Amino acid sequence: LPPQPDLDLASLVRTIPDFPKPGIQFRDITTLIGDAVGFAESVRRLSALAAVQRPDFIVAVEARGFLFGAAMATAMGLGVVPVRKAGKLPGVTIGVDYELEYGVDRLELHEGAVLPGHRVVLVDDLLATGGTILATAALMQSVGAEVAAALFVIDLPDLGGSKRLEVAGLACETLIA
Ligand code: AMP
Repeated sequence: LPPQPDLDLASLVRTIPDFPKPGIQFRDITTLIGDAVGFAESVRRLSALAAVQRPDFIVAVEARGFLFGAAMATAMGLGVVPVRKAGKLPGVTIGVDYELEYGVDRLELHEGAVLPGHRVVLVDDLLATGGTILATAALMQSVGAEVAAALFVIDLPDLGGSKRLEVAGLACETLIA
């Protein structure tokens, strides 16, 4: 599909109020990825931002990060490394615990998937508080990888994630703010 530099990606994202619980405005990217031109253009823009960083791998965060990260990786001629919720990866894993609003959660990476000195770009669909991506970045740093940047389709700046990433020194770019 030809590039569509003027396409307004935001117009293809739906907001569903009160999902998964009251008060949350859920940004639903299924309408974006269901649109052939919108999906191709999202992946093209993300890949262009990632290519500047010359990564060795794309690291994609479960679950919607997989959709964009996998497409970017094939477009860029790179492999994709999944970071998953606890208990999903079959091999030996390295994990990191991180705080949620109520309680803790855990993200895991296959041991050996990323090695010391590798340069990676992190991808997820949306940046809210930044907790998920900061935990992913910590996981990368724990195995000696260098996080070049974190990329998102959507930023919700009112939730403070982009500010937290800036404070943490993690470069971040988003397609829709
Ligand atoms: P956070 O760790 O707070 O930055 O949250 C980011 C993660 O939660 C991403 O994996 C998003 O897919 C998901 N997420 C958080 N808030 C929303 C929202 N309002 N709409 C859609 N996904 C969200």
